[in-house]
Amino acid sequence: MTEEAKGVWVYLQTEKDELTKDSLEVLAAARKVADKVRQEVVGILLGNGVEGAAKQAVSHGADGVLFVDSPEFGTYFNLRYIDAIYAMVMARKPYAFLFAANELGKDLAARIAFRAVTGLATDNVQLEVEDYSNPVLGDFKNLLIQIRPDFGTRLARIYTPRHRPQMATVRPGNFAPLPPDPKRKGKIERFDFKGGDYPAMVKEILELPPSPVDLAGADVVISLGLGILKDGSGRPRNPKEAYEYAVQLKQALETKRGLKTEIGATRALIYAEVKELDGLIDKSNQVGQTGTTVAPKLYFAVGISGALQHRVGMQKSAKIVAVNTDPEAPIFKIAHYPIVGDLYVELPKLIKTVQGATIAN
Ligand SMILES: Cc1cc2nc3c(=O)[nH]c(=O)nc-3n(C[C@H](O)[C@H](O)[C@H](O)COP(=O)(O)OP(=O)(O)OC[C@H]3O[C@@H](n4cnc5c(N)ncnc54)[C@H](O)[C@@H]3O)c2cc1C
Repeated sequence: MTEEAKGVWVYLQTEKDELTKDSLEVLAAARKVADKVRQEVVGILLGNGVEGAAKQAVSHGADGVLFVDSPEFGTYFNLRYIDAIYAMVMARKPYAFLFAANELGKDLAARIAFRAVTGLATDNVQLEVEDYSNPVLGDFKNLLIQIRPDFGTRLARIYTPRHRPQMATVRPGNFAPLPPDPKRKGKIERFDFKGGDYPAMVKEILELPPSPVDLAGADVVISLGLGILKDGSGRPRNPKEAYEYAVQLKQALETKRGLKTEIGATRALIYAEVKELDGLIDKSNQVGQTGTTVAPKLYFAVGISGALQHRVGMQKSAKIVAVNTDPEAPIFKIAHYPIVGDLYVELPKLIKTVQGATIAN
């Protein structure tokens, strides 16, 4: 079974008939894996009117697309979707199957892994391919190595040696979409699927109000950590003061530099439920493994130690400025502009510097 399994599959999501950014990222991840194992990338597409998205997938790195196109698939309904995808898996036996680690991807991937009796590594930030030997299990060639933060301070490398497909969800923000190449050719193939009757149905879909914080779409993210609770001498400070500095820096970057700026936070600061920050910072501001992954042009880590779970959510930022009193803080290992000092002294200086700047032409 493991030998005959072929193809690196990607579950493709659409929004208004176009592939989502998350799907383009997972296509890029799949391309990297497929090139290493010399196999094809196959996009799995379910919906109503998916032809345009199928061509888009080919231009962004898929060698083929297997699709189900029918009005029944116009609205996401997991029971029907899982039946169809499971039928595809059984018919074609892929080597690997990747999903975006977003709500829909997590919903589908776990259920399909269960049905297909295989493993699932969630929230991966990297994917590699390696041989693996184990004195008990034996030797395995070309395994997909699924890399994700563990529950402590380390990165876990997860293998699925004896079952196929090797299934993984990929955290958004960790792979850059491949540029479209309209000349790429791929095999776009319909999969015949007849769904059954389901004990439940989707009656209505209501849009949730959009999050007031668009961390993933910002040019600059200014993130605050537990360090804002004390000044450089260890004396307690009202953290609202640091928040207001962050707002001033945001305003200066927006007005003087034209950079869309958002305020982020560590999970530790959010979970500390500091009353002064009530209504100012909440889960929608969280950057990291269990928050949003960001890769802005500029990231400010203010009073943040740089724990692994925070770093995996921001380490792809183009430039990182870190302000911390502790020169040994792990955040300095990835900072391009390390500022060893008290944030209550350094933030006003940064604000002044940016306020003095003018927008470059
Ligand atoms: C399963 C799991 C998931 C997690 N997910 C996330 C996640 O998504 N995002 C996340 O952020 N964390 C996450 N965490 C928590 C993470 O492990 C760390 O606990 C957290 O990131 C630490 O937050 P911090 O840097 O604000 O606090 P600390 O680690 O306490 O760091 C505070 C820093 O501030 C500095 N400092 C103190 N005073 C000042 C001052 N006046 N000026 C300048 N610097 C100062 C200190 O030197 C210190 O380095 C997760 C943990 C687990 C187990």
